[in-house]
Order: sequence, then C-alpha cells, then structure tokens
Amino acid sequence: MNKILIVSFALLVNNLNSEENKINLYELYKELHANPELSYQEIETSNKLAVILKNIGYEVTQNVGGNGVVALLNNGEGKTVMLRADMDGLPVEEKTRADFASKKKAIDPEGNEVFTMHACGHDVHMSVLIGAAEFLFNNQSLWQGNLLLVLEPAEEVSGGARNMIKDGLFTRFPRPDYNLALHVSASLQAGKVGYLPGWAMANVDSVDITVKGLGGHGAYPHTTKDPIVLSANIISQLQTIVSRQIAPTEPAVVTVGSIHGGTKHNVIPNEVKLQLTLRSYTDEVRNETISSIERIVRGSAIAAGLSEEYYPIVEIKDEYTPAVYNNPDLVDKLQKSFSESLGENNVTKVSPVMGGEDFGMFGRVEPIIPTALFWLGAVNEKVYEKSLRDDIPLPSLHSDLFLPDAEPAINTGVTAMSNAALDLFNLN
Ligand SMILES: [Zn+2]
Ligand SMILES: [Zn+2]
Repeated sequence: MNKILIVSFALLVNNLNSEENKINLYELYKELHANPELSYQEIETSNKLAVILKNIGYEVTQNVGGNGVVALLNNGEGKTVMLRADMDGLPVEEKTRADFASKKKAIDPEGNEVFTMHACGHDVHMSVLIGAAEFLFNNQSLWQGNLLLVLEPAEEVSGGARNMIKDGLFTRFPRPDYNLALHVSASLQAGKVGYLPGWAMANVDSVDITVKGLGGHGAYPHTTKDPIVLSANIISQLQTIVSRQIAPTEPAVVTVGSIHGGTKHNVIPNEVKLQLTLRSYTDEVRNETISSIERIVRGSAIAAGLSEEYYPIVEIKDEYTPAVYNNPDLVDKLQKSFSESLGENNVTKVSPVMGGEDFGMFGRVEPIIPTALFWLGAVNEKVYEKSLRDDIPLPSLHSDLFLPDAEPAINTGVTAMSNAALDLFNLN
C-alpha cells in the first residue's frame, strides 16, 4: 500500500466526525459500554449494529446462529476478507467509576439477577469493526473483493462461533480467504498492537467430576466409602498430569476450580462434585490430558475399594473452545501492514497465553482458512507507567476495574484493521 494513502487515512481516523466518517465511534463505544448484554441475550446490541451497518450501505443478515449478524459488501472480483467482533458482556458488577459505567442487570441462565459489564472489551471490538466498516465502504476504489463482517454472539460461553458456522456462515455467504479479529489487551498500551505467529490462545475444556461414595457417620468411617478422602486423592493425582505425563515442552493446565461435598462435620456424604478447567494448545495434549483424568479417576476409585457402579462420572462439557492458531504467513503480512500504518514502534511481538477465544473455531473448518487474531493495546499510557513505577498490577480482562483507554485504542484498532484488510485485498 502506498504512503499517501496511509497519511490520508491517519487524518481520517484522527477526525472521526469528518465528512467521510460520520459515525462518532467514541460515542458508540460509550453507549455499548453502558448497555452490556449477557451471552445469548445480545438482542439490542445486534439490532443496533445491524441498523448502523445497513445505514452505511452493507447487505445485512441478522439471526445467523442466534443473535449473530453478518454484513456483506460485494465490491467486484477478488478475495474475501472476514473481520470479526464479538458482542457479549459478562455477569460482572462494574466498579470503574467511569461516567458511562454499566448499571445494567440481566437474568443469568440459572435465573439469578446479575449485574452486567463489558469487562472483556467487546465494546471496543464492536466500535472498531464499525469504524473499519465505514472506512472500507467509503473507500471502495482502494480495493476489490468481498468484505464479510461478522458480529459474533455468545463468545464468552463458547457457543457463538460454532452456532454461526452451523447456521451456514461459510456456505450461505462468500467463503473467506482470510479471517481476522482483534482482542483488546489489558497489558499493552493504547496505540500499540501485539502480534504472534502460531499458537496464541489455548484449547479450553470444562470438566465435571462426580466422585461417588457410600456415606455414613463420621465416627464410623470403616463402614463407609468416603468420597471426600477419595476426592482429595484424585485432586493430588491430577497435579501429576502436567508435571509427569505431558512433555515439559508442551503447555498444559489442569485446574480444579471448585469442590463441593458434604453438609455437616460428622456426616460422610455420598458424593463430591469437582469442576475443572483444562488448557492446552494441540489436540494431542488435549486428548492426553482428558484420558489421563479418566484413568486417574478410575484408578483412584479402584484403590479406594469401590465397585464399578460407584466409579466417578467424568463429564467433558461440550462448550469446548478450540485453541487459536495464528497462521504464520498471515501474521507476517499483518506485521508488515501494522508497521506501515502504525509505525514499527507501535507493533510488538507478544507471548502466547492460556486464555481461550471462540475465534479459534473459525480457523478449524476444513478446508482451513488462514486465521489470525491480534492484540489491541488498551491501557492508558499514564496508568501503564504508574503500574510499572509503583509495581501495581493492571486490572486484567474480566476484572470489574477493567476500563480500556477507548479513544486511542479504537483509533488504533480502526487503522490497523482497515489497513490490514486493504493489504489483504490488494495481495497479488
Ligand atoms: Zn472474555
Ligand atoms: Zn473477550
């Protein structure tokens, strides 16, 4: 892409109320931030964004895999580039004290009334997508092809991508040659972007284990099969999966995040329930972790003298999030594009994390589409410096104190995303 274009574009995104870009993205961001909706409940959000995209001039399809929105711009022969943003908020009570902080409540799947917050920055993602949508619509002379904008619901519970794919995202609409997304970073300054080739985010599995026993009086343990002692043994043994089973060079996590059993000091219960989160990058490590859990659980039950009908039940939940693998060739192209549009100093290589992102699912459909997710810096410069100076940890994603420095982050996101799309359209 030539330099003149970058300069004129920089001017354009620095003045979001200019003639060409009519949508004030910061106002849109504040409105989205103040009105978060939980996963599977993104009705107002998806309607609002669908209207904006229709008004810009996109061909908009709603209710793709639930509340999903697909906006298409056919601009002649060429590549198809998909840009994704996610729409859902979290059941978190916001404590940021921003004047546009969310005070919204919703009913969660268990029927409880909960506060809601955009604590994962999806409000920034949506604002960036709209900014890129407007820029690329207004500058159709600079590119040719199909632009596919995807607003994904239910990312936080890992259902949106799967449901959109099932509902024909890659068959009803032009199939992308490239899938692109960004996620705000709670550790990178606003104005910067982070890139990473290869494994970037982890496979996420949730596992429920019901440890069964034969309850009775706490003073007569010999007449029982104690599921609490058995659970303690299982939990200790689970620690050996990462330390002794998986190759030290392969990242993996097994965390028991919840244990519930028993009612009283002197009653041995009939069962204990455990909830685990598992993380990995490769399918091999994922499968090995799961089969190790099944083996340990079964072996521990046998050692406790339980008969087969009392073996623990292991349930691998189907809300599985596949790891995000960033296509190295695509990341190489993105890095060059970002360096041109943002300046080399604002483009950093980042480390992989064991967090999960539903976006990985879009890169799993055969034949595999080159896919990449990059990180958008969102930390206010002064806050960042203060945290370094005073050794105060920055609020992480999902924290009730997470507040992106939205204006520079959105400007940077729109610049990075729009130029990356242009560069991909213009590849020979
Ligand atoms: Zn999140
Ligand atoms: Zn997120």
